[in-house]
Amino acid sequence: MSATRVLVLNSGSSSLKYQLLDMRDSSRLASGLVERIGERSSRLRHTPLATGGGTREQSVPIADHDAALKAVAEELAKDGLGLDSPGLAAVGHRVVHGGKHFTRPTVIDDAVLAEIERLIPVAPLHNPANLTGIRTATALRPDLPQVAVFDTAFHTTMPEAAARYAIDVETADAHRVRRYGFHGTSHAYVSRATAKLLGKAPEEVNVIVLHLGNGASASAVEKGRCVDTSMGLTPLEGLVMGTRSGDADPAVIFHLARVGGMSIDEIDALLNKKSGLVGLCGDNDMREIQRRIDEGDDQAKLAFDIYIHRLKKYIGAYYAVLGRVDAVAFTAGVGENAAPVRAAAVAGLDSLGLAVDDELNAVRGDEARLISPADARVAVAVVPTDEELEIATQTYALVKR
Ligand code: AMP
Repeated sequence: MSATRVLVLNSGSSSLKYQLLDMRDSSRLASGLVERIGERSSRLRHTPLATGGGTREQSVPIADHDAALKAVAEELAKDGLGLDSPGLAAVGHRVVHGGKHFTRPTVIDDAVLAEIERLIPVAPLHNPANLTGIRTATALRPDLPQVAVFDTAFHTTMPEAAARYAIDVETADAHRVRRYGFHGTSHAYVSRATAKLLGKAPEEVNVIVLHLGNGASASAVEKGRCVDTSMGLTPLEGLVMGTRSGDADPAVIFHLARVGGMSIDEIDALLNKKSGLVGLCGDNDMREIQRRIDEGDDQAKLAFDIYIHRLKKYIGAYYAVLGRVDAVAFTAGVGENAAPVRAAAVAGLDSLGLAVDDELNAVRGDEARLISPADARVAVAVVPTDEELEIATQTYALVKR
């Protein structure tokens, strides 16, 4: 029997998310999450999808990622799907920052590890956690291919005109300051799935992808290749997010330091963790914001309006970047679920051929679907993202024999 299973690992600083997929039919065999690694109240939630069993939860102290992965392996082994089973073809790791260097998924060796490590200064929160996940999995199964799938890779096709900031070139290059973009596996998956929904090949269509989750980013995808995206050197740039400001005049930072007396770390925390929707109205969950708007809450309404204003600006900007747009695709938690956000984002853009059909927009579902009127010039679609499937697909394509 050939090995057809891929374990997808997404390691955060104190969490480990995983899915086990069978690539013969892309089916999910198991999924789960270890949270609060390193704390006394760690929790492991495991759902054995292959056997149809219910979710199993454990609250036990899990000291580090090594212990977390061993606990996950034990859970998988209960259903005969352990890390030592011959059916496992590879482990696919989500790696947030691949810089300019990694343009595609890569089988991990010492040189690749060293390069991911070299990128820590531009991804101080994410890459160390991703490296820990890789080292842990490698120690458990040294013989198994470990593949890195980079959040930035899909965006490496951006032309220099979009990727460079207009700052002194020598300084920028010395410190690797440029726009990298993130959520790349989602933008790649959703742009392809949108083409499929239109019955076209990815090379035949231009798509604006709006990944609206707690983090949010937009991308302009021309004939299957990313030509611009809203996140930059870090995932802070661009759209208004759950807790991140997105675009702001860089001089806001000097002003807060010089006049507000704040330290760089305080400003970093302010813009990344206490801004966006939560900074504007105290809530970052779009469901709660909508509930408050329905009750007549002005602060929630203003937060919503600022969110939509920014989103609309990016739709317009990427329309101009692409010249011709075949589809606008909404994805991730907000994009897939919040019909009022979708309606407001394209409201008034009829002259660009953009509109939603209110009835179609109100339909809920897990499938990719069109929400624009039948005669619309530009398709507007809801396309559920699936980053784990994308990571597994890219991983398997590299290792299958
Ligand atoms: P994600 O980061 O893709 O998991 O998205 C998480 C966000 O999606 C949450 O913070 C909510 O703002 C939003 N969300 C999830 N479900 C809904 C829903 N039913 N309606 C509106 N927003 C939702």
